[in-house]
Amino acid sequence: MKIGCVREIKPQEFRVGMTPGAATEAVANGHEVLIEAGAGMGSGFADADYIEAGAKILPDAAAVFAEADMIVKVKEPQAVERAMLRPGQILFTYLHLAPDPEQTKDLIKSGATCIAYETVTDRNGGLPLLAPMSEVAGKLAPQVGAYTLQKANGGRGVLMGGVPGVAPAKVVVIGGGVVGTHAARVAAGMGADVTVLDRSLPRLRQLDDMFGKTFRTAYSSRATTAELVSQADMVIGAVLIPGAAAPKLVTRDMLKTMKPGAVIVDVAIDQGGCCETSRATTHQDPIYEVDGVMHYCVANMPGAVARTSTLALGNATLPFMLALANKGWKQACYEDPHLLAGLNVHAGHITCPPVGEALGMPF
Ligand code: NAD
Repeated sequence: MKIGCVREIKPQEFRVGMTPGAATEAVANGHEVLIEAGAGMGSGFADADYIEAGAKILPDAAAVFAEADMIVKVKEPQAVERAMLRPGQILFTYLHLAPDPEQTKDLIKSGATCIAYETVTDRNGGLPLLAPMSEVAGKLAPQVGAYTLQKANGGRGVLMGGVPGVAPAKVVVIGGGVVGTHAARVAAGMGADVTVLDRSLPRLRQLDDMFGKTFRTAYSSRATTAELVSQADMVIGAVLIPGAAAPKLVTRDMLKTMKPGAVIVDVAIDQGGCCETSRATTHQDPIYEVDGVMHYCVANMPGAVARTSTLALGNATLPFMLALANKGWKQACYEDPHLLAGLNVHAGHITCPPVGEALGMPF
């Protein structure tokens, strides 16, 4: 199969859909890899790295779209890219179609077979192609929060780990899933005093078993949240109710009880955020202040560490990409119901019921 990868053109997107390592694997499996010139630059991969991996460099995206049987990307195709898709071509990337009728209509019109990273499942009920980005955002959250806590950045001027004789920062993580666990581990590793709130008792038990000596856990009730938030130097929002907007667990009233210069890192902002005062920000202008509390609400945090994110995403997508290329999409999806769960649009039809339901379109 001819597998193509183009440079991402969504603003501020520096990741790339295929690493030179993945290209090497694809070539070793007997496939031809076509890379748009400069596609890997944002993640620190030169064209020469792909050539060494056995790939062919094409001058532009149009050439890649024209030749490739399967396009592997990171972000949803932009309008100009959607216009280059053709019937029978496979598109393997993040799509997030439910809130995006324009893109969905274009993909239906294209006749292509579109497999979305975010709806591929695993046998534990997880989302294996979303998890790596949650791991990245989780580990990044205390890092950006620690920077924001510094006085010059509007914060309280508190050092995460304290020093001998001076208490460390108090960090409260709301939601103990993938983001929350990684955030709590890093914050605790920096020496902070960390408490993780979750409303799932099985999850709290798991966390306590695994990390009982590293951080505390607490049940996520209104009263406990209010108490912990009022004492916190840093609150990290990491809740998720699949398919729904994030619940507003930190209210405007709670904000008034917080210490001046305390920091909220609302990672759940891509689902609307779990604080009433959260609004999405960008890497260019990431921080704002409400009632003396600093908010960091960047909706695409992994973009800040594009190279790590590209490598992490590539590790997760590689087995699925190889299955699609080695077996063809039909056989690969027939053999693997978790990959089949990723099929969102095929030959002019929506094939993912939640997408059809969300958009009120036939499926
Ligand atoms: P996850 O499903 O692994 O974890 C979510 C956790 O929230 C679960 O443990 C769940 O029990 C808990 N939860 C649900 N309701 C709760 C409540 N009322 N109180 C306390 N806990 C509650 O999800 P995840 O992968 O960790 O993702 C968390 C959020 O981070 C999602 O909104 C995700 O989209 C977002 N995210 C954002 C970025 C970014 O760049 N901003 C990147 C990756 C993920």
